[in-house]
Amino acid sequence: MRTGQLIERPSWLKKRLIYNGALADTRKILSEGGINTVCASSVCPNQNECFANSQATFLLLGEKCTRSCAFCNCGNSSAGLNLPYDPPDPSEPERILSAVKKLGLRYVVLTSVTRDDLADGGAGQFAATIRVVKSYSDKIKVEVLTPDFKGDERSVGTVAEAGADVFAHNIETVESLYSRVRPGADYGRSLKLLKYVKKIKPSQLTKASIMVGLGEDEVSVLRTIKDIAGTGCDILTIGQYLSPGPDNAPVAKYVTPQEFERYKEAALRTGLKHVAAGPFVRSSYLAETAYKNARKGTVRYDRS
Ligand code: SF4
Repeated sequence: MRTGQLIERPSWLKKRLIYNGALADTRKILSEGGINTVCASSVCPNQNECFANSQATFLLLGEKCTRSCAFCNCGNSSAGLNLPYDPPDPSEPERILSAVKKLGLRYVVLTSVTRDDLADGGAGQFAATIRVVKSYSDKIKVEVLTPDFKGDERSVGTVAEAGADVFAHNIETVESLYSRVRPGADYGRSLKLLKYVKKIKPSQLTKASIMVGLGEDEVSVLRTIKDIAGTGCDILTIGQYLSPGPDNAPVAKYVTPQEFERYKEAALRTGLKHVAAGPFVRSSYLAETAYKNARKGTVRYDRS
């Protein structure tokens, strides 16, 4: 039974919708380009705002995920039998570039479903897309949010060496909830990935995100923040988990803005360069701002 539905959303989780020409244009460009977004797949609460500002996060490698994370809408459980998985589409990097041009993006965020069925986990498709965008204009900043590649350092290296400006990998939740929320993943492996990127590419900014409201306690959140900072990570985002569908984990708690503020202050004390924490914060939300602040090395209390 989906008990999370029984918790009424608090007042701070209401957002005003925006309707403008850019919103319709963004939808049209994505649809005509046959481009998937995590904005739509994850039922992101910021979709209206981001699309109205011509922002979107591109989802590479199809919509079928090889894992079944309880928080995610792309998994096997929600999509039924996902087989067969589509092979990487060689036209995808150019289709993404075409959308980047039409949307006029200066900051591009690329992510993907987890593709454990592919020998490289899809790393080659990330690298190809980064290169296509960067070869069009080196002024465009690229952020990648990757799966864990089952810890394969060659795959991580393939992406890290392709020239993105930010390498993000989400820790998602506290270690004790991994078996329930993120069963195909491993907490230590994900931390190791972030550390490895810093080791092989020290100039590349790294970024991680966690969700709260899945049933974790405050001590575990603070420990997770410390563990992420311990990898040398530059940017951290902390947001409220919102259940995307009836097959997903229910919301255990709506974290208050005051609690988010406490997490943010604790995170900034660990030396992270930029921290965004708040009910609507997502990994890619205001990603360019996070990048710029982290690049400057300035610490900023982002109240979003
Ligand atoms: S916050 Fe990220 S995932 Fe959500 S709509 Fe904006 S760009 Fe898409």
